[in-house]
Amino acid sequence: MSTPDHPRPTATDEELRAALTSANIPTLLLVLAHLTGDDRWLADPYRPSRTIALHDNDTGGLAEQRQAEIRDAALAALGEVRDGQRAVPGPPPDDRIVEALSISLGEQVPPEYAAAMAEDGGFRKPAWLTTPPVGGDGPRVLVIGAGISGVCIGIALQHLGLPFSVIERNDAVGGTWLENDYPGAGVDTPSHLYSFSFAPRPQWSRYYPKQPEILDYVQGVARDAGLLPSIRFGTDVVSAEWDEASSTWQVCTRARDGGEGTEQRHVVDVVISAVGLFNQPEVPELPGLDTFGGSAFHTARWDHSVDLAGKRVGVIGTGATAMQVVPAIADDAGEVVVLQRSPQWVAPNANYLREVSDHTRLLMEQVPGYRTWYRLRLAWMMQDKLHPTLRKDPDWPHPQRSLNAANDKHRRFFTDYLDAQIEGAEQLRDAMLPDYPPYGKRILMDNDWFATIRRDDVELVASGVAAIEENAVLSADGERHEVDVLVLATGFSTRRMLFPMDIRGRSGVPLREQWGDDDAQAYLGMTVPDFPNLLLLYGPNTNLGHGGSAIFHAECQANYIVGLLRRMAARDIAALEVRPEVCDDYNARVDAAHEQMIWTHPGMTTYYRNAAGRVVTTTPWRLIDYWAMTRTPDLDDYLVTPAPQAQRRAG
Ligand code: NAP
Repeated sequence: MSTPDHPRPTATDEELRAALTSANIPTLLLVLAHLTGDDRWLADPYRPSRTIALHDNDTGGLAEQRQAEIRDAALAALGEVRDGQRAVPGPPPDDRIVEALSISLGEQVPPEYAAAMAEDGGFRKPAWLTTPPVGGDGPRVLVIGAGISGVCIGIALQHLGLPFSVIERNDAVGGTWLENDYPGAGVDTPSHLYSFSFAPRPQWSRYYPKQPEILDYVQGVARDAGLLPSIRFGTDVVSAEWDEASSTWQVCTRARDGGEGTEQRHVVDVVISAVGLFNQPEVPELPGLDTFGGSAFHTARWDHSVDLAGKRVGVIGTGATAMQVVPAIADDAGEVVVLQRSPQWVAPNANYLREVSDHTRLLMEQVPGYRTWYRLRLAWMMQDKLHPTLRKDPDWPHPQRSLNAANDKHRRFFTDYLDAQIEGAEQLRDAMLPDYPPYGKRILMDNDWFATIRRDDVELVASGVAAIEENAVLSADGERHEVDVLVLATGFSTRRMLFPMDIRGRSGVPLREQWGDDDAQAYLGMTVPDFPNLLLLYGPNTNLGHGGSAIFHAECQANYIVGLLRRMAARDIAALEVRPEVCDDYNARVDAAHEQMIWTHPGMTTYYRNAAGRVVTTTPWRLIDYWAMTRTPDLDDYLVTPAPQAQRRAG
């Protein structure tokens, strides 16, 4: 039997032998043990060394001869599978997954990950895509946004068989991956992890894909699922108002049809926001910005008509976006001036700029289980493994520079890396060495950053920006830097969630008023008191600060929302509103957990925190905690309004 995720090889022995020379040995051992059922591949002398940090540990630390034995055995087993002499076993039991993975990684993956990994790896389809449809009598749903979250929930609604439509302001699917098409745009999560559990892509061309390929993936998933006819493109949601009498949302949309826009009213039972976090570009209020005479644009609104050749380009900001833009434009531009307000911790990553070889792609495409096991290794290494190291140790004697012994070790490692990168240009050290603990701001992957900053035609100005003039940036140290083009890599208005939509709930109070300008709160990041039947994807406190795939969270949320919708349909429920005390209690727990985490380190300023210092965007939880919290909705958490027919029946 071959599961849909585990196709049979079709390659010849020669092709397979060649491809296996590129195999990641710890992954291949998992494949071999699973295919043959022989546990000797998970024991000495084949037991791989511990996988450390961001490295794949391709050799498993094994001598060449052992690696050759493993490849030979894999070739034999794969040939048998191809020739129909060996069946591909069904998925392993959940506990076996973590047991085998632990051996492959050289460290214990806690058993609590077993079920989540079975689903995330694609050994088993997620529950929300396998339970029977509800059918068309359930609630009518309107989804706002067709980015990754919107595509995910759209597919869930399609499976449920509920009447739904998606309203998307752009003219195509993709959300942030459509809008952020600046030079060098890409993702910091490995490609084989940054994909839906139910839609693997064995053909990724890079270990960290660039924007066009990610966009192609998201659009392909939407297209293949037949979602496009349900999406109304080029349309903004202007407002949504809860009508208590009918227990419906009255949603006003405006189509951007060239003129003033055609407004339309929609009456639906449930509204799901999937507008994303990085939705509204943050344009800083810099004195004189409007007097700049050259081209000035935000990275999320890149002006591709501007030819940078020979131009002096000022880039404001040194976050994840600038880290990608600056190396990507340095060759074209005449000069680049990088205006840094705060330095960032930068991590080396051998895979970051690496392309996936044809050999590896063949393994991903044809070797049963290879891409699944490879993904699960990443799922541990790149996600929750780091979380404990980001907790404050109250007894740690150096809280200024680090949080605990492990974080201090990371600090030393990244500092050594910085020193090695700027050797011979030590004058950069003061400017580039952060004074806060690593991971306090989002850690950045070295994208030739140091090499680019060291170029003669690139200048780092580390004093922040004081003002903009017609053809120059004035830095806070009083220096004047002439520029022809100004690029604002200044991030997003992440704390003004759901802006600028006007959303009013049961009491008529706008959500904007309830949350204030920067203090969004929701139960599980998804539901808000006084706003019945409003569900949020990528809402408050659901962004991943410690690393991990946002797509995993989107699937957790889809699972929870599907659970709620099923209950509404099955029990004739007209409205579900989270109880205020449940939401308050949850947020008190979020805040208390954050007090223990790095993101509340004194003095840290990030887009995670609001003016009062509360962490608003980022989750304090491990992915596995959130997965567990979003498995099964508990209707006791909600005020339930029965549908009129249910009320009549009860009466
Ligand atoms: P960001 O992390 O918010 O960084 C904004 C940068 O602009 C910071 O360096 C900030 O300095 C600076 N800045 C803001 N206002 C300024 C002002 N008035 N004067 C001078 N400097 C100012 O934004 P981002 O780089 O666009 O990244 C946002 C998020 O998008 C990331 O955290 C990530 O989640 C996602 N992203 C991911 C990738 C990837 O995966 N590779 C790439 C791009 C974006 P301070 O640090 O001092 O505030």
